[in-house]
Amino acid sequence: MLNRQGRPTAAGEAGTNEHPTFTGNKALAQVEPLIFEIGRLDVTGVDLDEPAAFTPRLGGQERKDAINLPGLSEPEAMRHYVRLSQMNYGIDTGLFPLGSCTMKHNARLNERMARLPGFSDVHPLQPVSTVQGALELMKELAHYLMTLTGTKAVSLSPKAGAHGELCGMMAIKAAIEAKGEGKTRNVVLVPESAHGTNPATAALIGFVVKPVPARDDGWVHVDDVKKLLGPDVAAIMLTNPNTCGLFEPQVVEIAKALHDAGAYFYCDGANFNAIVGKARPGDLGIDAMHINLHKTFSTPHGGGGPGAGPVVLSDRLAPFAPVPFVREGKKGLELVEHESDAAEKPFGRMTAFHGQMGMYVRALAYMLSHGADGMKQASEDAVLNANYIRAGLSDLLSLPFGDKPCMHEVLFDDAWLKDSGVTTLDFAKAMIDEGYHPMTMYFPLVVHGAMLIEPTESESKSSLDLFIATLRDLAMAATSGNDKSRFTGAPYHSPRRRLDETRAARSPVLKWTPPAPIAEAAE
Ligand SMILES: *Cc1c(COP(=O)(O)O)cnc(C)c1O
Repeated sequence: MLNRQGRPTAAGEAGTNEHPTFTGNKALAQVEPLIFEIGRLDVTGVDLDEPAAFTPRLGGQERKDAINLPGLSEPEAMRHYVRLSQMNYGIDTGLFPLGSCTMKHNARLNERMARLPGFSDVHPLQPVSTVQGALELMKELAHYLMTLTGTKAVSLSPKAGAHGELCGMMAIKAAIEAKGEGKTRNVVLVPESAHGTNPATAALIGFVVKPVPARDDGWVHVDDVKKLLGPDVAAIMLTNPNTCGLFEPQVVEIAKALHDAGAYFYCDGANFNAIVGKARPGDLGIDAMHINLHKTFSTPHGGGGPGAGPVVLSDRLAPFAPVPFVREGKKGLELVEHESDAAEKPFGRMTAFHGQMGMYVRALAYMLSHGADGMKQASEDAVLNANYIRAGLSDLLSLPFGDKPCMHEVLFDDAWLKDSGVTTLDFAKAMIDEGYHPMTMYFPLVVHGAMLIEPTESESKSSLDLFIATLRDLAMAATSGNDKSRFTGAPYHSPRRRLDETRAARSPVLKWTPPAPIAEAAE
């Protein structure tokens, strides 16, 4: 069947639609082709005058032929992008249980603050005297980040968690070099459960990565760390609460063992949202930790640019914090842009400018609107919600580390699916048919068929109850043996069915080529 673009309809593709429609649309769920497929070359939504004759100054390099951008009328352009947006699943459409990613509600208040012209229109090259308010905001955000973490310095400029890891590890490297140990201390310890960015960061700047083995209880043991410590160890990169959703009970002993051995403690702070207002990482002995503003402090993931991954630093690393940073000057606040202008020994610079202003505004709005008590309660509610899900599912799904309380996320494995013919991936795809974005799958790697669920504090009890009831229904169907195709063939109701995600990632098709005319293709 062909639709209005003369192309086979999605109903044909899906093959499961009992009542295929002529258009391929399913009532309000519209099929939307690529803009290249629907655009025409001679259409535009605006009237542009023909340019007056001019002589190009590009030395003959100017394009001679048409640029062939697809054109649409204004209503068509509007519909195209609105329809695409309707295919998107976001935190504004439903519960988003991606573990480790912390998909919190992005409060509209924060969005409004970020759109104030004094923040949204600020230019990084404006004279410093004209951006005193923006600098004041950065100073205040830095103050609260240091207060909440119990640390002495913060570098705001890194633009993501992984970028923050790089910043913190470069500060550690600079500290080691300053002690004349740059040649000897070249090993970084990374637990096997770590996020992939940790070993990647360490390797990127020339460290040798040594894994700390996983234990059956999901914790990192100080004895295992001690066995690996020596004059060659520069640091550990440890996540706390860890990626199994557990607080590391030996974190203080681990920090002491590292410091006694002359090494540093990098903490991956992506899970800080479980302990804000409850525990200060500085008190636990960390030397550097990134904070994902787009996780812990509810700024959108990728909204208004990349995220933001400020790094807090202990006394020992503070002197090496990179430029730029905000400082009190004679004529108000100033930005220290050059290493030579700093009193200490910055290791260099991470970004061209000063970081993500929009994220700073949103994060500070989140902090101020919650207050100290509100932030503490957000952590407690995040942990409560994850444990509510754990308790609601633990009789059906299997917990790899026993039925002990978790922090802000709960980790299940696939032992409960054994012999069912249904995999973690199938289960996740069936969740899509139920209208849920799947949980994080197959991470952390130390758990077989991992399903990592993080509801965040944003979800109400009724929303959690429906989620639990849905997963219970799916779990019973998966293990009943009667309804395997509900999983192995899922998703049935999404605009596209099961995609070859590995091939899409490994050999992405980045250029659209017009399909051969239907008549030829049929030959
Ligand atoms: C999200 C995350 C990171 C990386 O943060 P990005 O902002 O995505 O670069 C690192 N470690 C852990 C545990 C994470 O959850």
